[in-house]
This record gives sequence, C-alpha cells and structure tokens, in this order.
Amino acid sequence: MASSYDVIVIGAGSIGVPAALALAGKKLSTLVIEPCASPGQRNNKKAIGGIRATHSDFGKIRICLRSIEIFADWHEEHGNDIGWLRNGYSYPAYSDEDEKKLKDLMKIQHSYGLDIRWVSPEEYNQLVPGINMDGLRGSTYSRGDGSASPLLAVNAFYFKSLEYGAQYLFNEKVTSIRPRNGDGFEVTTDKGSYSAGGIVNAAGNQGAEMAALIGQKYLIQPDCHEAAISEPVQRFFGPMVVDMRPSSDSKNYYFYQNAEGQVVFCITPDPAICGADNDSTSEFFPMVAKRMVNLYPRLANLKVRRAWRGQYPNTPDGFPIVGSSRELPHFVNAIGMCGQGFMLGPGLGELISRMVMGETNDDDQRILGSFDPYRDFSGMEAFK
Ligand SMILES: Cc1cc2nc3c(=O)[nH]c(=O)nc-3n(C[C@H](O)[C@H](O)[C@H](O)COP(=O)(O)OP(=O)(O)OC[C@H]3O[C@@H](n4cnc5c(N)ncnc54)[C@H](O)[C@@H]3O)c2cc1C
Repeated sequence: MASSYDVIVIGAGSIGVPAALALAGKKLSTLVIEPCASPGQRNNKKAIGGIRATHSDFGKIRICLRSIEIFADWHEEHGNDIGWLRNGYSYPAYSDEDEKKLKDLMKIQHSYGLDIRWVSPEEYNQLVPGINMDGLRGSTYSRGDGSASPLLAVNAFYFKSLEYGAQYLFNEKVTSIRPRNGDGFEVTTDKGSYSAGGIVNAAGNQGAEMAALIGQKYLIQPDCHEAAISEPVQRFFGPMVVDMRPSSDSKNYYFYQNAEGQVVFCITPDPAICGADNDSTSEFFPMVAKRMVNLYPRLANLKVRRAWRGQYPNTPDGFPIVGSSRELPHFVNAIGMCGQGFMLGPGLGELISRMVMGETNDDDQRILGSFDPYRDFSGMEAFK
C-alpha cells in the first residue's frame, strides 16, 4: 500500500464512501481511513433510508435531486439492488397553521424545480388508505422522493469505489493532521502516517474534532434518535408519512414501508437527548407507537422486529458544513449532516470531487453558499 495519495478521506460513512467513489471515479488516488471494521458502521446504518429532495433550501434540494438520480439509477447502471423504491414523501397537515406553512414552502420548492403538490384529504386517503381523517386538511406529496437500504447502498458504493481504485484502511483512526508548508498534509493515525495533497473530513460525530486538528472550530452536537423496523407485510400504503406535529415528549416522527414491505420508523424526542449513547431505551416504543397508531390505526397489528439508536450530527442551524478552509484550501469539510446525511451522500460526494479537482460551476457555488463553513449559523432550516 502506498503512503502518499491525492486525497485522504476521513471516515467511511454516509458521506465518506460516496465521496471516495466520486474521487476515485475521477482517477484520483484515494485513501479512506476508518476506525470501524467495515464501511457504514456508525450513523450510516442507523438511518432509516428516507431520501427526499423535499427541503426548504436551494443547496439541499439540488444535492438531493442529484442523489435521487444516483440511487434510482444504481441497479440498472451497476447491477446491484440497493432497495431503491420511489415511494414519495408526504407531510399531512391537521391544522390551518401547518397547512399554510406547507403551502408557503411549496412556492419556494416549486421555484427550485421540485415536483411537489398538495393533495386533498380524500386523495391522501388513497395514498395512505385508512389514515386518520379527523381534522385532516390535506397533505404535500412529492412523488419523486424515495427510499433505499443504507446497508446495501453503502456497500454498493464501497465495492464500486474499490473497482475505481480507492483504498481503505479499517480499524485505524486519524489522530493528527499536519499541513506541509502550503503543500498537502501529513496524516497520522494510531497505526501509521500517510501524506496527501488534499483531505476530506467526513468524520460524522467526530467531524468537529477532526477540523480542530487543523485549528478550525465548529459546533457539531450529536443528538440521539431511535428507530425500528417491522416484519415484512404486503404493501398497504405509499409514501413516507412525516407527522410534523409536536407532542408532550416528542417532535416529529416519520415512517414508510420499504422495498421489502417492512415498516421503518423513527421519532425526534423532545427535549433532545444529546450525546452518542447507542443503547436503545424503553421510552422509545411507548412514545412512538401511540402516536403512529393514532395517526394510522392500520399499523396496530404490526410486529416489530428490531430497534436501534444512533445520532444526528447536528449543526446549530440544521445545515451541513461543506467547504474548504480559507487558510488550507485543500482541506475540505463535509460534516454536520444532521438527519440527512444518507440522502445527501451521493450528490455531495460528486460535488466534493469537483471541489477537489477545482471543477466547480456556478450552480455548485450557489449550493455551497447554503453550506458555507463561515456563515454565522443564526438561521434555521425549516425541514430540519
Ligand atoms: C434513527 C436515525 C434515522 C435516520 N434516518 C435518516 C434518513 O432516513 N435519511 C437520511 O438521509 N439520514 C438519516 N439519518 C441521519 C444519517 O444517519 C446521518 O446524517 C449520516 O449517517 C451522517 O453521515 P456521516 O458520513 O457524516 O457520518 P457517519 O455515517 O457516522 O460516518 C462518519 C465516519 O467517520 C468515522 N470516524 C470518526 N472518527 C474518525 C477518525 N478519528 N478517523 C477516521 N474516521 C473517523 C466514523 O467511524 C464513521 O464511520 C438518521 C439517523 C438516525 C440516528
């Protein structure tokens, strides 16, 4: 194995693996360093697989539209099934306030080219048969969104990146980074040293820690989210359902039926549970089950197979941090993915490869404006 590379990617997760795929696809010698024994073992495999371009901001919408193309075409282009399903996303509204919020947002989403429309309660009841109609005002429906298996997808991207020449070091973690007199970096791990012209920091929960190694300060605060998956059953509803109403102990929750017929779901606890503890709790089921069954009584008899817990690596404003360091332009941060790193990964991977190659276009620059590491972080993304 060589010790000098064009690029070193820190972390083989939702962002690092598709970034390595795109970088190696551009024939850059690429090394990925990862403390786990295989790709996608941290937050990537905790994601429930939702993939939407339904956001409130140009950057996220454009990146996710590209991600959706990559996920959707993967099976046909590369031959492996990653569980892609174009099931769409829906945000049902049960109050005037939510209806107005969603409809106002749709105007912005339309201006960015999103295929999203408002459906009546009756039409929504056809998409999600048996949904609670009591007080239902209608729903957004973005039929181009979908879902895929985070486990299958990360492995498909990984094996393809190996074919393109990317190299991976597992069971090894980056401990220091030293810039070399304006020309590249020395990266030290707990097992060795490597040099590279550029670095991509895709270290997820540890993203701020890695940026701090070159003196950059970011606030990334992981908070815990639990999820679960049911037994597979015959398909009985269409889109991802996102109930955005808060309750006494939780904010939004969302669920969908994946390509295998399993219902996958998770919830945002309130207050947030900060930290990176991965043990499931006994609070999760009572919290989520009563809300889900109230909204969709047909879920009552489902048998749940497995639950798990992971984190959203959150930024203060809900937008990722993607961009080069001003002092060290070949150090690219791709961190703070919040609850959307899986869906952002493939599109962002391609953008990162254009950044590294110095090939960004006007559209890319506008997208990067949304994710600017030097912003003041005072805003708040509406669909965080
Ligand atoms: C319950 C739940 C449901 C979710 N559902 C969705 C969803 O439906 N759709 C969606 O898009 N997102 C979802 N997410 C969010 C998604 O999982 C994260 O946003 C995403 O995985 C973050 O990607 P990442 O690459 O930044 O981090 P990770 O995937 O965690 O990858 C970071 C990698 O960096 C490595 N690393 C850390 N320190 C070092 C070091 N010192 N040296 C080298 N490597 C290091 C880690 O080991 C890890 O493998 C969900 C999350 C949870 C918890």
